[in-house]
Amino acid sequence: MPVDIPGPHTRWRCGICGNLTRFDVARTVQSRDYVHVDLAGVSRVEERDVVSEKIERVWCRWCGGVDSVVCEPRPASG
Ligand SMILES: [Zn+2]
Repeated sequence: MPVDIPGPHTRWRCGICGNLTRFDVARTVQSRDYVHVDLAGVSRVEERDVVSEKIERVWCRWCGGVDSVVCEPRPASG
């Protein structure tokens, strides 16, 4: 089940263990890359602009929970 990308006012939280900070994320990224190919034919991406990205799945790094991570409002601070 896809999870929204957290923004300034939302965060990810694991519903099983409460983890807020460490996740494994599978995402599909569409990007425009600046590729620098040297004379030996070795290419390297030197700049990457992400055009769009879609979160496919998020796993909790702590407990390994699948589909346990939710995007929720960040508690108001100060
Ligand atoms: Zn967890």
